[in-house]
Amino acid sequence: NEKYALGLHKSKEVLGNLKRLIEQNQSLGEDFFLELEDIFIQADLGVDTVLYFIDTLRRKMKLNNVTDPKEIEEMIVDEMFKIYLQDEIVIADLDYVDHETNIYLIVGVNGVGKTTSIGKLAHQLRLDKKKVLVVAGDTFRAGAIEQLRVWAERAKVDFFAKEPGSDPSSVIYDALQKAKKEHYDVILCDTAGRLQNKVNLMNELDKMRRVIEKEMPNGLRETLLVIDATTGQNGLKQAEIFKEVTKVTGIILTKMDGSAKGGIVLAIRHLYKLPIKYIGLGEKIDDLVLFDIEEYIYGLFA
Ligand code: GDP
Repeated sequence: NEKYALGLHKSKEVLGNLKRLIEQNQSLGEDFFLELEDIFIQADLGVDTVLYFIDTLRRKMKLNNVTDPKEIEEMIVDEMFKIYLQDEIVIADLDYVDHETNIYLIVGVNGVGKTTSIGKLAHQLRLDKKKVLVVAGDTFRAGAIEQLRVWAERAKVDFFAKEPGSDPSSVIYDALQKAKKEHYDVILCDTAGRLQNKVNLMNELDKMRRVIEKEMPNGLRETLLVIDATTGQNGLKQAEIFKEVTKVTGIILTKMDGSAKGGIVLAIRHLYKLPIKYIGLGEKIDDLVLFDIEEYIYGLFA
């Protein structure tokens, strides 16, 4: 997948050092593990995850007495998979049910690429022959509504909004009435991303969920959290907070094209047990791809 390889060249800048390290270093002394530690910390895997990861590797490598670079590489790849997949093998595809209205709440702080991702997702789903409605649930910023409208137009899907300042739960209520009449396959609903007031945000999202539960029981398919990969540890912190505030089911990791900190991919999974569903690889409408952990990890060593 060429798009994948191109989009992730930044990620390879740091984690790609792995290959060099393995090729140069076959003694597996403490220097090797220190440098390995360094690479993963620079890649923003997060200190706790790195320590756990290096510890496991050190133990296994010593135990099995590995010296062959190929074997070392295999063991690292293996452990990266284990961190990512933990005990369940997750198919990180979008949860979708045919012949029903599938509702997705998109959450995340401002600036991470929420609007752009909704536009990209709408475009993909439309190409996939789904009838899509984009809903402007972030009523706090007038700009957000307009920007989302532009993306919906670009994606050639329908758009629903109310006045700036409207109650987001009333927006989703009205959007659901429209969806009942017009039989949409997909509703992509934007939400406000103000973390300054966690309680407000929690109440707002709760209220939206309750409206959905009442109007279309079992219609809420996923709550996707958008995280900007270039923000590293900050992004991880956001995942932690949003997990407290609402029931997040998956991640859209944006700006992977501009991030050398690919370790966030493993860290999110390890720390918060959240699957990455999509990654953003640019600003254009088709720059969103399903995340494929295999392609990602093998790509780092290719
Ligand atoms: P929002 O405030 O969360 O809705 O963020 P926007 O969707 O407005 O995006 C903020 C900026 O990030 C815009 O300039 C987007 O073009 C840019 N952006 C979003 N996703 C990506 C991505 O995957 N890669 C790159 N390079 N830029 C992105």
